[in-house]
Amino acid sequence: MNIAFIGLGNMGAPMAANLIKAGHAVTGFDTHAKPDGMTMADSAAAAASGADVVITMLPNGAILSSVAAEIHAAMKPGAVHLDCSTVDVDSARNVAQAAEDAGLLAIDAPVSGGIGGATNGTLTFMAGGSQEAFDICKPLFDIMGQKVVHCGPAGNGQAAKICNNMILGVTMIATCEAFNLADRLGLDRQAMFDVVSTSSGSSWSMNAYCPAPGIGPTSPADNDYKPGFAADLMLKDLTLAQAAAKSADADTPLGEAARALYDQFVNREDGAGRDFSAMLPRFSARKRG
Ligand code: NAD
Repeated sequence: MNIAFIGLGNMGAPMAANLIKAGHAVTGFDTHAKPDGMTMADSAAAAASGADVVITMLPNGAILSSVAAEIHAAMKPGAVHLDCSTVDVDSARNVAQAAEDAGLLAIDAPVSGGIGGATNGTLTFMAGGSQEAFDICKPLFDIMGQKVVHCGPAGNGQAAKICNNMILGVTMIATCEAFNLADRLGLDRQAMFDVVSTSSGSSWSMNAYCPAPGIGPTSPADNDYKPGFAADLMLKDLTLAQAAAKSADADTPLGEAARALYDQFVNREDGAGRDFSAMLPRFSARKRG
């Protein structure tokens, strides 16, 4: 396929590299990044014109909306705008509607799996959009990822992503505060892991991404809490979840508590640039207060 890839940062560059490796023709555009080995266009519109699929991997909904306005005008009829960024549900739905109004197809397909997943082609995609658009993009999902779930119409990919990450943020905090309580009660961390990871308190946060160094499978805790999945990105996703909860009138008290705690950690403590599991040393350093 002829593919345009707009937004070649930490995630976009390795995703585009995997498409090239699989034999697709990729033309890139980024306002700053210039990855090696990729044909670059002078503008987003120039990259998008003539492409069968235009992939965007951008920081937020405002940037996505402005890039979408530019590329939709340049894309050929029937081409697909595949947005893999994590953005608010309303922006995703508005961009999809704008694409449809311009005679294009659209899919929102945010990812989980981080930079490692993008590099290794093992991302999970959560896709929202028509079956027709999904079917066109499926071979690309298969190259860039190991799993894709079609979650329904436009915006549902973003909805799935923020619901998943709201659970993740809450369970990570719960896992970290429980480890800290266990420490203070004199319970060995290995024993704590052995019990919880095989009991009803188990979760992905405990079992696959244990926040205690030296315990469980290798995780960012074993690398001085270098991300991994940065606390800043968790704060972004929890903030998007709260915006969505507000617009859908959903009561999400633990999601809001997790957002407030990551906000404090990132913006008023030392959480910026650290992995989101660094909540454990944060709790360890504090008293009940
Ligand atoms: P990044 O900041 O590394 O990359 C974003 C890129 O977009 C940058 O290279 C930037 O120059 C470019 N850009 C900004 N405005 C542009 C414009 N108008 N036109 C063209 N390019 C523009 O971010 P990232 O880590 O690659 O994340 C991208 C998206 O993926 C975000 O929505 C993020 O939430 C999501 N995501 C990231 C991770 C992760 O672990 N990094 C995991 C899952 C999802």
